[in-house]
Amino acid sequence: MQEFDPDEYAPETIAIRAGYRRTSENEHSEAIFPTSSFVFGSAAEAAARFGGEIPGNIYSRFTNPTVRAFERRLAAMEGGESCVATASGMSAILATLMGLLRQGDHVVCSRSVFGTTTVLLNNYMGRFGVDVSYVPLSDLSAWADATRPSTRLYFCETPSNPLGELADIRALADIAHARDVLLAVDNCFCTPALQRPLELGADVVIHSATKFLDGQGRCLGGAVVGDAERVGKEVYGFLRSAGPTMSPFNAWVFLKGLETLHLRMRAHSDSALALARWLRAHPKVTAVHYPGLEEHPQHALAGAQQSGYGGVLSFEVAGGREAAWAVIDATRMLSITANLGDAKSTVTHPATTTHGRVAPEQREAQGITEGLVRIAVGLEAVGDIEQDLARGLDHLP
Ligand SMILES: *Cc1c(COP(=O)(O)O)cnc(C)c1O
Repeated sequence: MQEFDPDEYAPETIAIRAGYRRTSENEHSEAIFPTSSFVFGSAAEAAARFGGEIPGNIYSRFTNPTVRAFERRLAAMEGGESCVATASGMSAILATLMGLLRQGDHVVCSRSVFGTTTVLLNNYMGRFGVDVSYVPLSDLSAWADATRPSTRLYFCETPSNPLGELADIRALADIAHARDVLLAVDNCFCTPALQRPLELGADVVIHSATKFLDGQGRCLGGAVVGDAERVGKEVYGFLRSAGPTMSPFNAWVFLKGLETLHLRMRAHSDSALALARWLRAHPKVTAVHYPGLEEHPQHALAGAQQSGYGGVLSFEVAGGREAAWAVIDATRMLSITANLGDAKSTVTHPATTTHGRVAPEQREAQGITEGLVRIAVGLEAVGDIEQDLARGLDHLP
């Protein structure tokens, strides 16, 4: 069979066909290889494989054919040389930090990142002598000012959760590279279907595959994408020794997820924009945060650096926690859960869940008010989502 060459094809096609080599059984759908080890033809071949003189599978903590197909497909989609799949999004972040940092290094991190990422940096990486400073995501001079001679890595998510704030990736990469610093972007919210950070100058892209790459809320997984040296050697080296590898079954689910990713991200984005406009017009809604709205302060940047605005939005109601909880509790269809990137729409109260561990003053300063509600817009009919939110919104005092 002829090898699929991603350079000759459009992104939608790459997401469906890249990375897989059919076996001698001529299966059409990708095969799952649930095996922990691989067999050698002779003692000499075993020795040569272990010694790295000949390539090939040895043990599934190192490589597995189904996992490799996912890695190669995602690498092609992000435009990276190497991809390392991991057991979860958090282990992708851990592997990146452990692979690229050493004692005494300093990290500058956006203050608007996934809560567990800050726990990992503060409570665990700190124990091993890695220092971290937090800056406002979109304030480029704050990133430059926080940089020290020991700074080795910038880390951000864009757009941010739950307020949809953006970092200008190209500008941030320029600031990083002028100071000999690497830029890592957690691309979980956009996926390569909507944003390709490596093309904009980022050095490393991180994913929680658990979210939109799966797309139906089934499996945990993660990935790191970048160049052959840092990701293919340094991050992979940590992974094969420490062991938070992706299971072949989960890799297969994600491979199938990637095949519909472009269609889904377009549908999530279209529905989120329609819902954002409906919420904006509702008399009980005091603010809507979504980069697709013309009045969003970074609407133009979102249009330039993303090919869609994504599936997550948030809105505010007057009356604080009581009013926000009333809207959430009046829903009958939306799932009250903090996960996102699912065909099923989810509703969350960030101040008491995802951002509940942040000190109240800090939370308010970041704009996570008590009246804020986040929706990860799924693939149901938008009218049904609107109707479900109207149950509570229409009855607010
Ligand atoms: C969920 C999430 C993570 C962590 O991923 P897990 O798969 O849950 O470990 C990291 N970053 C972002 C932006 C996320 O939404």
